[in-house]
Amino acid sequence: MRGSIAIFLCLVAVGCTSNEEEFDTGFLDDTGDTDDTGELEECEVNVVAFDYGDQAAWVNGNPDCGGSSQSPIDLQPETNFFEGETPVLAFAYTTSALHVINNGHSIEYEIDDASNTLTVDGTDYALLQFHFHSPSEHTVDGQNAAMEMHLVHKSQSDALAVVSILIFPGEAEQPWIASASWDEIPAQAGECLEDEETVLDMDDLINGQLGGGTKDVVHYNGSLTTPPCSEDVEWFILGEYMLLSSEQIATFSDIYSGNNREVQALNDRTIFYDESYGN
Ligand SMILES: [Zn+2]
Repeated sequence: MRGSIAIFLCLVAVGCTSNEEEFDTGFLDDTGDTDDTGELEECEVNVVAFDYGDQAAWVNGNPDCGGSSQSPIDLQPETNFFEGETPVLAFAYTTSALHVINNGHSIEYEIDDASNTLTVDGTDYALLQFHFHSPSEHTVDGQNAAMEMHLVHKSQSDALAVVSILIFPGEAEQPWIASASWDEIPAQAGECLEDEETVLDMDDLINGQLGGGTKDVVHYNGSLTTPPCSEDVEWFILGEYMLLSSEQIATFSDIYSGNNREVQALNDRTIFYDESYGN
């Protein structure tokens, strides 16, 4: 159910045989948004649609979208990777209750508390939500993956860290995605999955399906890939990727296809890549 970036690079290489995010600054407070019983609060969906067919217009009203440190970008391991130490990622994920919503531009899984933590070089970030793009937003040597998953985290000081997992077609059903009420994701904008007790083992995603998720991490500084395109995002693209069955990919792409921003100019940024990290 997992692979490495080496295999990924092989998959996209010619002749080989063998890509916010949306966040609400009031989403987390010190006490979290769960009540004393631990039950999820009522699901509310704020529908926002973006015109992926006219992305050049996003800068109108969103000046950051025209900035010089935008995301996504094209990863070119042979030419634009800088080998060196990348920040140490420490995932402390747990089992969480989530709302599954259709927000008008993706399917988003929202977590109402701060129980899932990512620590980057000593700074704690709480997982707010994760969502998907089809095809991927980040590309490798110009090639899109079938899909891309974005796990959006925020620190106490409102810094954002997004962890990206690229998704490719595989033979078998991916069990973690299957466990995420994937067959029931809401097709209509504004809908929330009625099952308000979608409980997901987030630790299994990282430490089960992705083998710890900390090998071959690619890191660069970028932006939200949707308006307002704020340039305050630390990006971490995991070398481990997920294989979803073609049916599982179709489940999402039948609802959203083409919700990927075009790659942006790297400009003077550095893409850090630590091949040995985690080994
Ligand atoms: Zn995203």
